[in-house]
Amino acid sequence: MSQERKHALLSASAASRWLICHPSARLEEQFPDAASDYAEEGSLAHEICELKVRQNFIKKQSAATFKKKLKALQEKDLYQKEMDGYTDEYLDYVSGIVHGFDSPPYIAVEKRLDYSHVVPEGFGTGDCVIIGGDVMHVIDFKYGKGVPVKAEGNPQMKLYAAGALKEYAFLYPIKEIRMHIVQPRIDYNNEGVIYVEELNAWLNAVVKPNAELAFKGEGEYRPSEETCRFCRAKHTCRARSEQNLELAKEDFKKPPLLTAEEIGPILKQAKDLKAWASDLEEWALKEVLSGGTVPGWKAVEGRSVRKFADQDKAFQILACSGMVEEEMLYVRKPHTLSEIEKMLGKKEFRELLADQVVKPPGKPTLAPEEDEREPITLQTSAEEDFKEE
Ligand code: SF4
Repeated sequence: MSQERKHALLSASAASRWLICHPSARLEEQFPDAASDYAEEGSLAHEICELKVRQNFIKKQSAATFKKKLKALQEKDLYQKEMDGYTDEYLDYVSGIVHGFDSPPYIAVEKRLDYSHVVPEGFGTGDCVIIGGDVMHVIDFKYGKGVPVKAEGNPQMKLYAAGALKEYAFLYPIKEIRMHIVQPRIDYNNEGVIYVEELNAWLNAVVKPNAELAFKGEGEYRPSEETCRFCRAKHTCRARSEQNLELAKEDFKKPPLLTAEEIGPILKQAKDLKAWASDLEEWALKEVLSGGTVPGWKAVEGRSVRKFADQDKAFQILACSGMVEEEMLYVRKPHTLSEIEKMLGKKEFRELLADQVVKPPGKPTLAPEEDEREPITLQTSAEEDFKEE
């Protein structure tokens, strides 16, 4: 699972940060790891996934016991009907891998994966590990709705693979590791492959030396949009502040007419500048609200919108006044597609309405060149111009 139940200092999920910005792991220790509702929701979805995979492939319990356990999870506050569809999709994905083998493979779920042979005290929890012949699959379910996460080259997945390899290499002749990330809420499943020699070379050349520095709190601070985004120290980290202030100085000293060549890199830097400024605002507001001082700043009441103290009573007065017909007080509004999908569940929605769904092109938006989407242009080609004429 992406969120380690009991965190290792050098967790797999934060590897893309501490492998680059070494001291971040020790610096983060000073900040509480506040579990958000999103993380709790993710944990619940993971529990449902685990129950379903176990029931289908590992230890079949009676249908009544399974139902009872599922019902207990469905009664939790953060449960939503759509979770059933998403966890079914995960189950389908796992089934696809299991049924791809000629004979039943070995399957483990919610497996503690110890990679402390390469990272001091390193361990994590793999959602599902499947082994058959010389191939091992490591699957990670992500319940977030954020950005799609690639499995290929993903340090978190490679560390899970290292832990799984340590556990199973003496039992199975594993040569090839297939890493999978399943993100059903954004319809994104991704697979990457790594061979054992390649993985070991990365562990020795990259992970071991950087993990040692990170564990000791040594090495370099390397702020960037990617490394700082989820760092718990991001609000008050001095290295990030210095880098951004330096960038701000340089960028705004430049002459007014910039070239496209200059704008490209500035836009990339400005993204973190923007994120950093809003992190600082968030921190300062918390500080002043809790009685602290941030020179030059105070907390005030934000904009507020008028509303009826008691809507039913206000409507009753209006209806009694005879000035407005009661039906004029209400607007009949259709639910959005997403709301209906939530109401029905993903599977039922697809069965019933798949033919009725269209996806118009999205509004043009600027994206970094590494983005997987196809580039678009509003300029017509000479051929198209000719056709129109
Ligand atoms: S905020 Fe950025 S630079 Fe500072 S420790 Fe975290 S990752 Fe490193």
